[in-house]
Amino acid sequence: MNLRAIGVVRSQIRESKAMPPFGAPASVEVFPEFRDGLHRLEKHSHIWVFAWLDQADRGLLQVTPRGVSDAGPQGLHGVFAVRSPARPNPIGLTAAEILRVRDGTIDVDLLDFLDGTEVIDLKPYFCSRDIIFSASNAQIGQPSSREAMRDSLLRQALRFHGERCPDLALAARIIEHFRAETLGLNEPEEWRITAPISRGCLIDALIGITRATPGRGGIQFADEDTVRIRHQKTVFVYRLAASRPTDYDRVLAAPDADIFQFEIAP
Ligand SMILES: [Zn+2]
Repeated sequence: MNLRAIGVVRSQIRESKAMPPFGAPASVEVFPEFRDGLHRLEKHSHIWVFAWLDQADRGLLQVTPRGVSDAGPQGLHGVFAVRSPARPNPIGLTAAEILRVRDGTIDVDLLDFLDGTEVIDLKPYFCSRDIIFSASNAQIGQPSSREAMRDSLLRQALRFHGERCPDLALAARIIEHFRAETLGLNEPEEWRITAPISRGCLIDALIGITRATPGRGGIQFADEDTVRIRHQKTVFVYRLAASRPTDYDRVLAAPDADIFQFEIAP
């Protein structure tokens, strides 16, 4: 095997401690001898970036991932079951949105690779092949905080819905509240949601976050401005405020009582 770096990551982030969980805006600078390979890259909105993580430990086969509280044998996961950089061949893989391609440099929205990381390949993200919407993962680690969980929920909703809108923020606030108040930030094993039929953006965002689909009965619709989440034998009820929210940032900053009335159904 003979790998050659085809480019390098340019980022403001130079130490792993400073890397935000989902990465930071960055560029991939493709070396001049490989730039012909970028021809027609602009046909794609997203790319897979493959990087060589040369500082990773190549001798480990099991690690305790971030967010797993059990530091003993119970917390161990095989390196092929997690995305840790530690592995025999430390290849990093991240999908990113292409913002601009110019003079052999690709600007992307977010990349979790440090400045100077060698890039070994680029491939287009294919909607027709790469989206497996019915895929699932059992939870690996816990979010480090409620704020980190909110960021993750917003990001998942946005990746499905495609626009930052007030009802997307509202969906994230509801799921955040439910997970924080009832499950100690954990995810339920399965989602059972009833959503208001007239709120398309809210429905999209709930599906994007929970991957509950109507076909499998995970999400149902009702003609009322209420979100109901069934967990075991209990129904958690979120009655939405009478006036629809109009501002994404305001929904994120609002106190709970301004955006929904929460109750546990008797
Ligand atoms: Zn929307």
